[in-house]
Amino acid sequence: MPGPKPKPLEERVWAKINKQGPIVSEDLGPCWDWCGKPDKDGYGRIQINKQSRPAFRVVYVMVKGDYKHGLELDHLCERNICVNPDHLEPVTPFVNNSRRHQKLTEDKVREIRKLYAEGIQKASLARRFDVTFMTITYIVRRPTWDWVV
Ligand SMILES: [Zn+2]
Repeated sequence: MPGPKPKPLEERVWAKINKQGPIVSEDLGPCWDWCGKPDKDGYGRIQINKQSRPAFRVVYVMVKGDYKHGLELDHLCERNICVNPDHLEPVTPFVNNSRRHQKLTEDKVREIRKLYAEGIQKASLARRFDVTFMTITYIVRRPTWDWVV
């Protein structure tokens, strides 16, 4: 005889998400924080078929569907515990890596501020300058690079 049915995956996933996480940027909206214990890198984990998987990837596929093989999900909000699919962008490993080692010049910072003032979206600036969304947010808010006018 079969034992009690295990809870379906979706139910287990939604039970662990706090949709009222912090708002790191107005245009991103609130993070969805994973309520389970994070791993050593700060990512939430979930057990599926006795295998531990990164929660943000499971949630992304559940909500948005599968993404292209070989791509990595980059956290736009730079909060590893966040599983909000809208805060995750599939990018190539090359882009993901270069965003982590981003080099900006004062000229680029000036240009980013100018374009932002003209109404270019932060997400598209991030793509154009190959930096993270949060880097753009910090640049236009001015706590970083505030010596550049
Ligand atoms: Zn987030």
